[in-house]
Amino acid sequence: MAILVLDKISKKYSNSKDFAIREVSFEVPQGEILALVGESGSGKTTLLRLIAGLEHPDEGQITLAGLTVAKGSMSIPANKRKVGMVFQDYALFPHLTVLENVKFGLQKLSRSEKEKVAQETLELVGLKENIDKYPHELSGGQQQRVALARALAPRPDIILLDEPFSNLDTLLKDQVREDIRQIIKRFGITAVFVTHDTKDALSTADRIAILHKGRLQQVDIPRILYEIPANGYVANFFGKMNFMPGRPTDDGFYTPFGFLQCEQAKGKDHKYHIRFRPEHAFILDNSPDHLQGQIEKVAYLGDHQLLRVRSMDPEEKPAYVYVKTIPGKFWKEGTVIQFGLSSFHMEEEP
Ligand code: ADP
Ligand code: MG
Repeated sequence: MAILVLDKISKKYSNSKDFAIREVSFEVPQGEILALVGESGSGKTTLLRLIAGLEHPDEGQITLAGLTVAKGSMSIPANKRKVGMVFQDYALFPHLTVLENVKFGLQKLSRSEKEKVAQETLELVGLKENIDKYPHELSGGQQQRVALARALAPRPDIILLDEPFSNLDTLLKDQVREDIRQIIKRFGITAVFVTHDTKDALSTADRIAILHKGRLQQVDIPRILYEIPANGYVANFFGKMNFMPGRPTDDGFYTPFGFLQCEQAKGKDHKYHIRFRPEHAFILDNSPDHLQGQIEKVAYLGDHQLLRVRSMDPEEKPAYVYVKTIPGKFWKEGTVIQFGLSSFHMEEEP
């Protein structure tokens, strides 16, 4: 069953002429972790606040666990929705202990029940030893788990997290991502988190929804978004993507970089675009049957290097090719290289 259903949600702030969110529709099934990604200003926080009930949509309908929470002028306020929020700065009470912070979210229970539920939740997030500490005595990752425990303790229908990883050091991030995912899965709860970092989304989410200027571009599992993006915007958001024109013949495509053999070209008569990721190009020495270009620029990135390669046609866009770093081996600008493609997509030119 879908826990969250957004149906053609639009939102315009009164002091703004553009829509912050425009006709966004998607569903989140029970137990799924969905990442909401997009550039700064694409509407991620607005969408999260609409789900929480902190903003009201101008149009569309929001359903939470089978209950319509917003439709037309009707909107159930945030405190009446069974939603847990984890804010970017954690928003913990500095003068309350870890246990008291978590108990704070459990208003309706008796005193002994509050104690029991808070203790249990803190144990499940791995903070049993820290319940009497104050927030400032904890690491960033631990403070975040307190905020998560506070949101989870009332057993909401869904939890919403705004940029949960943005305040953490790079070295800590991998571990925290894994921990947070494990905790959410342990509770079996549905979660939506906002991030501008594609690595956060690809590594932590079951599915990803991508926004651009308030409009939804694609919702899918990470692998599909990366490998079969719906459009050029999505393709470039998740890393570099090369596009080159291709004229089909019976056994391949003529491209600015030379002839690309491909059986599927047979019988095609349109102009095509060939699309490939830089890591799907591989360099071959002295292999005239393959694509060819001249290295224009080398970017050294540690584990790999990014080569910008020009074709013979100065009007055409360059292609980007990743090569794994081999210590002692250099790629010189000006060198002519041959390369093949281990994977590519072709699409008709519009
Ligand atoms: P994101 O979280 O993806 O950075 P936001 O949802 O914060 O994006 O913002 C989406 C758009 O709405 C932006 O153009 C932003 O300037 C605008 N916006 C956000 N909050 C308000 C507000 N309270 N009043 C007016 N405009 C706002
Ligand atoms: Mg934001």
